[in-house]
Amino acid sequence: MLTVRLILSAFIAKLSNSTDTVLKHDEQDRMAKPLNILFLSSEVEPFAKTGGLADVSGALPQAIKQNEHEIRVMMPRYGCINERRSKLHEMIRLKDIEIPMGPKPYLASVKSSFIVNNQIKVQTYFLDNAHLFGRSGLYVHPDTKKDYPDNDERFIFFCRGVLEVLKRLGWQPDIIHCNDWPTGLVPAYIRTVYKDDPFYRDVRTVFTIHNMAYQGVFPKSSFAKTLLPPSLMGPEGVELNGNLNFLKAGLQFADAITTVSERYAQEIQGSEEYGAGLETVARKRKADLTGILNGIDYTVWDPAADSLIPVRYDAKSIELKVENKKALLEKMKLPFDEKVPVIGIISRLADQKGFDLIGEVLDQLMKLDLQLVILGTGEKKYHDLFEKAQKRFPQRVAAALTFNNDLAHLIEAGSDMFLMPSRYEPCGLNQIYSLRYGTIPIVRATGGLDDTIDEGPGGNGTGFKFKSYSSAEMMKAIQRAVAAYKDQALWRKLMRTGMAKDFSWEASAKKYIQLYRSLARK
Ligand code: ADP
Repeated sequence: MLTVRLILSAFIAKLSNSTDTVLKHDEQDRMAKPLNILFLSSEVEPFAKTGGLADVSGALPQAIKQNEHEIRVMMPRYGCINERRSKLHEMIRLKDIEIPMGPKPYLASVKSSFIVNNQIKVQTYFLDNAHLFGRSGLYVHPDTKKDYPDNDERFIFFCRGVLEVLKRLGWQPDIIHCNDWPTGLVPAYIRTVYKDDPFYRDVRTVFTIHNMAYQGVFPKSSFAKTLLPPSLMGPEGVELNGNLNFLKAGLQFADAITTVSERYAQEIQGSEEYGAGLETVARKRKADLTGILNGIDYTVWDPAADSLIPVRYDAKSIELKVENKKALLEKMKLPFDEKVPVIGIISRLADQKGFDLIGEVLDQLMKLDLQLVILGTGEKKYHDLFEKAQKRFPQRVAAALTFNNDLAHLIEAGSDMFLMPSRYEPCGLNQIYSLRYGTIPIVRATGGLDDTIDEGPGGNGTGFKFKSYSSAEMMKAIQRAVAAYKDQALWRKLMRTGMAKDFSWEASAKKYIQLYRSLARK
């Protein structure tokens, strides 16, 4: 008993120490001069989105601005962005700016708009070159699903272009926060081409890895287009296995590196499976590498205020959730039975997400009393898998193989469970959305999924987890969930525990601000 009490008091002391530290940093931050931060991303909600990066890029800058720092966002101006709906304005001063690239320069113009939410407005700049970005896809051709063959030029232009137009804009950031491979060359330019430029001398860079497996790899010949010093095309520079590697550039040259969960920060250093060939570089940067868990924008993802679902509900009116289940099943043309749990899936259909496990055990899965609703788009083999499953089990499986934000909200609200059997998952957002919607996550214990979901004995916790990447383990977790669903009192308890969790951006934004502060020169 005494030991328990000692451990408990040590724990409380530690907790209050860390709370003190956060408060101290908070206080210091308020006293110090506000920082200027430029946030770079290749996709930003509400302008252009293929995955979670867009959610983060739309929400984190707002949370930082709420702390009274000046943060602005810059992204490419894709053809799919509707100028009128997104209220894009020309910036007359920033037209036809020559961006040095090999073998010939490209011209850039800048448009501007705002991310608006919660009465907070974050200025967003769009780097424009009609030839490179005036297309409907972000990275791949929408019909062929193949990468655009000139993605090297498109994102070299973006990285170099940002730094050129920023000087013309005359707004000097303390921090440039880069995200994922499309922005990876920015830290390399700052450390080399711009190292003696007074405008950039005091600028520090943060590089956030949202997914280590997407690296922006291009043949050696692409390097000449960057106009980086030739010495950089080597093992200490931006080269990996003879190729130009954008992600490596970010990892090597950024002042600080973050990933989107603590677990993933460890995993990418640990093995090739997670580090995807860059584990050695990640280990080398260990001292500058931290994990900061993504938050959730509850102004967008909250069943109590969600305008995209038929019936709103919260923990106190949990019984209303079933109305959304009815609406979902009607929309997906599946029969409704309150006793049969619906498992939802919303995902990019890529190997990372683990759907080969479903393929392996589909027949076994269909023997359980459940229904499966899938929303996703991506690789053809997974489209085929779910199309076939739908044909074979028309009363049990429905798949929408497309990108549809409204349906994503309805699936979160209308499903009983949410399945994410990922091979790896840097953070994962849908399992956290699911918690708030009372939709119980079934996840593989990897990366952010492991950090955010707990399974306790007898259905205590917030969801169901399996460890090893195997269809048998996944089946067992689904069976546990289906069994627990039969005990509605227990199920309601699970729902309430998940709905009460708070993963809002506030805490994570403060960690980013602390990091910026530790790097900034003022
Ligand atoms: P990732 O970034 O690896 O794709 P995340 O779980 O971090 O995975 O984020 C995925 C985001 O994209 C979520 O907001 C999810 O709702 C959304 N999403 C993924 N696929 C679709 C789709 N087909 N239709 C609508 N939204 C989707």
